[in-house]
Amino acid sequence: MHNHGRTQTILILCALVIGVFVGEWSFRSNGALPADSGWMLAGNLLLLRPLQMILIPLVVVAVMHGISSIGNPKQLGKLGLLVAGFYLGCMLCAATLGTLLVETIRPGDGLTLVESQTLLDMGDSAFKADTRVGALTANQATGIGGAFKNIAEQLLPKSPLGEMAAGNTIGVIVFSIVLGLGLAAGGDKTQRAREVVEGLFHAMLTVIQWILWLMPIGLFCFLVGIVGRVGLGSIAGPVGGYMLTVLLGLAIHGFLILPLLTCVFARSNGWTFMWSVRRALFTGFATSSSNATLPVTVRECTTNGGCSPKATNFVIPLGATLNLDGTALYEAVAALFLFQLCGVDLTTTDLVIAVLTATLAAIGAAGIPSAGLVTLVIVVAAVNTSLEGRGVEKIPLSAIGIIIGVDRLLDMARTTINVWGDCVGAKIVTRVLERSSAQTRDA
Ligand code: ASP
Repeated sequence: MHNHGRTQTILILCALVIGVFVGEWSFRSNGALPADSGWMLAGNLLLLRPLQMILIPLVVVAVMHGISSIGNPKQLGKLGLLVAGFYLGCMLCAATLGTLLVETIRPGDGLTLVESQTLLDMGDSAFKADTRVGALTANQATGIGGAFKNIAEQLLPKSPLGEMAAGNTIGVIVFSIVLGLGLAAGGDKTQRAREVVEGLFHAMLTVIQWILWLMPIGLFCFLVGIVGRVGLGSIAGPVGGYMLTVLLGLAIHGFLILPLLTCVFARSNGWTFMWSVRRALFTGFATSSSNATLPVTVRECTTNGGCSPKATNFVIPLGATLNLDGTALYEAVAALFLFQLCGVDLTTTDLVIAVLTATLAAIGAAGIPSAGLVTLVIVVAAVNTSLEGRGVEKIPLSAIGIIIGVDRLLDMARTTINVWGDCVGAKIVTRVLERSSAQTRDA
């Protein structure tokens, strides 16, 4: 098992270096690759689809297994509140960190009027050419109210099978929680069913281990496709400054804040834990999708990470869809960067609005590639509304086009932090559950 881990890590690191190198070489010699290049297609087929295939069955089985082993609805309720509070706190903290950084570094400042107009024009054409524009503008129309309605509808699914077929994880989780409670309440009568669920869960962990062998090649293909599309030269000028701000924020959150939370609340070394779940983090990086990474996250937490299946199976599926720390941080930085580029002076109230809406937009974003870019519109629109109230001119929505080109690179990084935040949640809940069962035993 450990040898597998070491070999896979070495292969993944090689894929990382060679992928960036080949991508840059392709960009320089053949020009920009199209968004749907053969490399992206190969990455999708080799890594994303196998993970997506196991995703929904795993969510059903893992959540039912986790919930039926916690059993007591009262304890579950308490745990649910704790997890929700933890997620919200972490996302608010990430969005605040992003806001502080972007307001201190100010990557969007210092351009002449002509320079910023040229950038905005480029952004406008990129925006109009982007296939996600439909979703982007729809989000502006629905605004925050729409984001709430969307979450509420997902929480009360009409048909579990429909939700499974559509790949809506939240609906599937809700259904599996209810069924898991039923399994726990059934006592002896549901004993067999509980054993079957547990058996299936372990079988799926094995399948995930097999899929992990595809990771190096999948990561390599994705990196060539992504770097070959924009080139490393894109990390220059104001957009480069913006990217570095996002990356710095993600690094502080990932390497300092989350490990610190692990040390304080889970009483274990955060960096050691980070290393033990590294393959989940690499998968997040490679796929840019917390949902697709979910199977690997569950596996890594319950095996190498030392988290209990009880805690993991409850915390990770919820976290993959709701807890997106990296996305919250990115949304705050991206929105405020665009306002800086347009030369708009923001007040503290605007910044608070940005932090709150970035958090909400991150909760509303699905754990799939580019979801954060789509919900970024909510943040820009909210700050625009505040500007309008003061009689200041709004910025055009198409300004988002300026950052569309480099989004996928940042998506890889923020998804890694999204997945890492979920792992930390699982570790902390493992400790909480251990302590409460120790207390019950003592009593
Ligand atoms: N790709 C991210 C995720 O799956 C969401 C985002 O676009 O920020 O976690």
